[in-house]
Amino acid sequence: MARRLIYGLMDLFFPPKCIFCRKLLRGRERFICDTCKKDLPYTDLAQAVSPGEYFSKCVSPLLYTGHVVQSFHRFKFSAQTNYAGPYGQLMAGCVQQHFDGGYDLITWVPLSPRRKKKRGYDQAMLLAMATALELGDVAVETLRKRGEIPAQSGLERPAERKTNVIGAFEVSSPDLVCGKRILLIDDIVTTGATLSECSRMLLEAGAKDVICVTLARTIHSRDPAKRG
Ligand SMILES: [Zn+2]
Repeated sequence: MARRLIYGLMDLFFPPKCIFCRKLLRGRERFICDTCKKDLPYTDLAQAVSPGEYFSKCVSPLLYTGHVVQSFHRFKFSAQTNYAGPYGQLMAGCVQQHFDGGYDLITWVPLSPRRKKKRGYDQAMLLAMATALELGDVAVETLRKRGEIPAQSGLERPAERKTNVIGAFEVSSPDLVCGKRILLIDDIVTTGATLSECSRMLLEAGAKDVICVTLARTIHSRDPAKRG
């Protein structure tokens, strides 16, 4: 009862807005307005899936364009961590559509400890937790970032992005990943270099297979928020 009252008051003072277009939500709308639900830049079947050097497949429910970019910036840089829930729903739907339970363990691409401290949260971890919750599962930490590397966003050529991330990650819990099919989660996929390098480490540690899901994939635009 008290909780409902608090939420009611919160809605009065901070009316909930669509996480994509920021219009005030009406009636039964939750997190995403009906217009965005219909018009978001969803990936079609051909765009949704891409193969990688060390992972079998990467799927993404959205293209990284329009309202998705602004929404993701608020999530990543303006502490709108409550976006993880609705993002996780979209990602879980994509996982069910493409993978149908073909994995044993859910994990994520970690931030460096320094960046995590600065930002206060690891956005890929939040996405992994939210996606796992939607799938009736849990996400487990298996990877660790070794110190700092130059941001992938500063590098334009795929070859540079690939070289930049080599050796940037290590498996923190090899016993957890050995013999498992891993579902690896990240926020945005650009060239796939970061996901590929994490997959390489997971396979080296004995993982049987790695499949990936990200919230969105870039088309060809350059954006300082994207990681790799
Ligand atoms: Zn909207």
